Amino acid sequence: MHDRLAVILLGPPGAGKGTQARLFAGRLSIPQLSTGDMLRDHVARNTPLGREAKVVMERGDLVPDAIVVGMVEDRLSQPDAMRGFIFDGFPRTLPQADALGKILDRLGFGRPVVVNFVVDYDGLFRRLTGRRTCALCGEIYNVTDRPPKVDGRCDRDGGELKQRSDDRAEVISERLAAYDRQTRPLVEYYRTHGRLVDVNGDADAGTVTRSLEKVFGAPQGRA
Ligand code: AMP
Repeated sequence: MHDRLAVILLGPPGAGKGTQARLFAGRLSIPQLSTGDMLRDHVARNTPLGREAKVVMERGDLVPDAIVVGMVEDRLSQPDAMRGFIFDGFPRTLPQADALGKILDRLGFGRPVVVNFVVDYDGLFRRLTGRRTCALCGEIYNVTDRPPKVDGRCDRDGGELKQRSDDRAEVISERLAAYDRQTRPLVEYYRTHGRLVDVNGDADAGTVTRSLEKVFGAPQGRA
């Protein structure tokens, strides 16, 4: 359907990028590349990179560009990324965006499709403090907006639902400040360097999915 599609989901923490990235990665058969997930995996495995990233992540700051770009370059050299990928949480700074532009040129990708999640900041606190993630499959819930059928358990596989350690009020304000300072300028950057589409991230997840279907197409039988 799509030939070599590079997708970037842009928006503050809690805007719904991860939920939609999981869904569309499955539908488009291309991997979801979440630098946050990759870093948390390093932290869980207690690698040298993970030990360096942990302190930064726990205070809500951004991990240095060189670390993140190196991790992404490694990941993009794997065969499943040849046809395309959906970035969720990358790039987050202008130097990361410049580095990615060079990588995409080298790999022969065209300009990325950039989905900009436009959200009201007031709602993000509630979304982030209520977020729970399945320890087994990574499915994302919210205690108020999208509760599981059984408290604390994933609907799909019964896995334990966990709260991220950086989804605490004091860290959330730092993460939102980092977004404002370092990531928000990418919206303007991608108005010229990408194919930027704005979506209303405050709508419920189903409505956001339908907006994204206008960009990527709907599953067959549901045009
Ligand atoms: P996320 O899961 O996308 O909310 O990311 C969690 C944390 O990982 C962020 O608060 C940052 O500390 C770090 N992180 C994830 N992606 C990046 C990135 N592209 N650049 C720098 N730090 C990142």
